[in-house]
Amino acid sequence: MKYYLGIDLGGTNTKIGILDEHGSILVKGSVPTHIQEGPEAACRRIADGVNDILAKAGLERSDITKAGLASAGPMDIPGRKLLQTANLGEKWKYCPIADMMSEACGIYVEFANDASAAAFAEYWVGKGKDAKKNVFTPDGAVGTDKPITSMVLLTLGTGIGCGIIINRMVYDGEHSQGGEYGHAIIDTTPNARICGCGRPGHYEAYGSATAVIARTKELIDSGAATSLTARRADLDTIGAKVVAEEAQKGDAAAMQIILDTAKYLAIGIATLMHTIDPDAIYIGGAMTFGGNESELGRTFIQAIRDEVKARALPTCSATTIIDFAKLGGDAGFIGAAGIAKALSE
Ligand SMILES: [Zn+2]
Repeated sequence: MKYYLGIDLGGTNTKIGILDEHGSILVKGSVPTHIQEGPEAACRRIADGVNDILAKAGLERSDITKAGLASAGPMDIPGRKLLQTANLGEKWKYCPIADMMSEACGIYVEFANDASAAAFAEYWVGKGKDAKKNVFTPDGAVGTDKPITSMVLLTLGTGIGCGIIINRMVYDGEHSQGGEYGHAIIDTTPNARICGCGRPGHYEAYGSATAVIARTKELIDSGAATSLTARRADLDTIGAKVVAEEAQKGDAAAMQIILDTAKYLAIGIATLMHTIDPDAIYIGGAMTFGGNESELGRTFIQAIRDEVKARALPTCSATTIIDFAKLGGDAGFIGAAGIAKALSE
């Protein structure tokens, strides 16, 4: 059995885990990143955490075939360094993080975008694992029993993360920016919403949790009759969950915000389908309105499917699976380890 180490570098905590070659987690842990202390101190602390989980797994450093490090972009994956990373701060700018981590841990580290890593995890051991590819049959129908080979994972949170799998491997583009779909332009009108990146009309400014919160506040401030009004302060602490809770209690305005979000997301998904034509598009992240386990989540995903069907070519909407992702917060380090495995084969 071969073993792989996954590291998911986060702005607050860094998640680490050791996986076997089938993608099962042997042991996992979390280390505070303390970004203000800079990358060298963080790498040392993460290396200590790796030593701890190696001991817990009963493994030696030499038992690890390879490691993967996932980080938020923008980054230079072939150059093995960070670029202007918004979530880590000034001290991390342009630092050769993959080499620093390799040295600190004593294990060669492959570098990956965290959205790509999450997508790879979903493909490897999540929803993509048992998903079947839709193909056209000779009579023009759609069906198959072959496993999928491509997918896109959209993670809905503060922004919209995007990871792309093509031909069983992550696709990062020529400049490591291939997953920046959160900045796709979906509104060209003069008063388009401004994205977190400062530019108008981007996907994130419409379909992220940040966007849901912004639209909800605007609705409340317009004086609309909604139970959300009494919960305005909660939007700053609990976020988009407030909208889900009020929608579940029957507030029509809250439900409309969720359905509008589905519409915006569908616009981007239809464009992804027409551009990449993947086997599947999965929705994950912090804002899934309960996912397939809740009626609200099922309403949300069906609204996305219906809107995609209304906007995309029928050949695309008939063949592309649209569903919720399966994995949660561990997807980053799982995918980082999986990418390391794929690159060592
Ligand atoms: Zn943007």
